[in-house]
Amino acid sequence: MLLDGWKTFRLIRQALASSRWRREDLRQVQEERLRNLLMHAYQNVPLYRRLYTEAGYHPEKFRSLDDIDKIPILQKDRLKQASPEEIVAQGIDPHRCGVVETSGSTGTPLRIFLGALDQQWQRVVAWRILFEHGFRWTDRTLEIRMTFGRQFFVQRLGIAPKEWCSILDPPEFWAQRMVETRPDVIVAGAGTLQALAETVQTLGLNLPSPRLIVSDSETLSPATRQLVRRALGRDPVDVYGLVELSNFAWECERRSGFHVSADSHIVEVAAASGEPGPIITTALGMWTMPMIRYETGDLAEVETTLCPCGRILPLLRRIYGRRVDSVALQDGRRIFWPFFHEVLGRYDELGQWRILQDEINEVHLQIVVTNNVQGLLSRIESDLQAVLPCEIRLRVERVETIPVSPGEKTRMIISKVGTAIEPHPVSGREGL
Ligand SMILES: [Zn+2]
Repeated sequence: MLLDGWKTFRLIRQALASSRWRREDLRQVQEERLRNLLMHAYQNVPLYRRLYTEAGYHPEKFRSLDDIDKIPILQKDRLKQASPEEIVAQGIDPHRCGVVETSGSTGTPLRIFLGALDQQWQRVVAWRILFEHGFRWTDRTLEIRMTFGRQFFVQRLGIAPKEWCSILDPPEFWAQRMVETRPDVIVAGAGTLQALAETVQTLGLNLPSPRLIVSDSETLSPATRQLVRRALGRDPVDVYGLVELSNFAWECERRSGFHVSADSHIVEVAAASGEPGPIITTALGMWTMPMIRYETGDLAEVETTLCPCGRILPLLRRIYGRRVDSVALQDGRRIFWPFFHEVLGRYDELGQWRILQDEINEVHLQIVVTNNVQGLLSRIESDLQAVLPCEIRLRVERVETIPVSPGEKTRMIISKVGTAIEPHPVSGREGL
């Protein structure tokens, strides 16, 4: 157990150091890790053997990251349809693996099988992000989740102690735990942080600011960020990841986009530079159930300039979330949340907002107004109408709250239109 802890510690240090390696060294490590993983998947995982044979691909063809796009893409549906024996490496009993499940908000959940080494790798990947933000082993963490993580023996000894709260508990309870335990670190989804910040503000609690607030699982809207900063006294760090791949893109102290943990994940964005495109990710440390060129279903935009923080890791300028979380236009184009934020972000009186689209050419904006100013609704309506394509009919409605059921993700745009519309032809590809 101690040996395991020591190895985890060593791997975290190595991951942290890789943020400032020379670019060519990092690339070499990525290529070597990918080459080994590809060969392993081809030889031991029936799904990959079949996928690659069908496409006429063999891992021996892999020379460098320049030809990564020759490797067939792994679609989520294919993974869902396969039996555990087809996706888990031969010689490993799926029933003896740890299992995590995606929420399955778009249908059947996806089951991910993890061996002991995969779990350790996932821990390292997650810890690394905290340490990039000055985490200390003595820091007390409060994490608010639907399902609780494992409590480790060393945590009871005071090493990185963590308390878990349930998102099913009322926000007043989380706030009370904050008062009682004074956590140094808070980790939760953006919607949960929003509810916590609102409650702390309503109760008028004056708490010492945590040193670090991590927002993950959902898109952190600028409005939520502002509220959290105001109520909890700390600017949250937005972290992106998926249950199936762990967290792998995160804001640094400069907040100038999302750094990709390139030593553990290879991220590609299938789009021309400056345009949103599907995120394709390879998890370099998952060997029980390999995830190679997995199409995540989310979109992002690549940032080509280096971050002033000095880390050499690649950057994503923006993460848009799921493709379906966008307004569909008649001509097949889609409008993502940053477009609406450009306009709505100008209004300080505006709290949360949400866009609903039931029909093509119809957009329904729900807003929570913190300070009711005369004529606000009609001003917002005309500002937004002015930038939307003219065929779109806009309706603005003031609501008291934007309800989200526990466990459900906050979505800024919910569209029932055009999920079957094919994505635009990919005009280029950015490898990271
Ligand atoms: Zn940076």
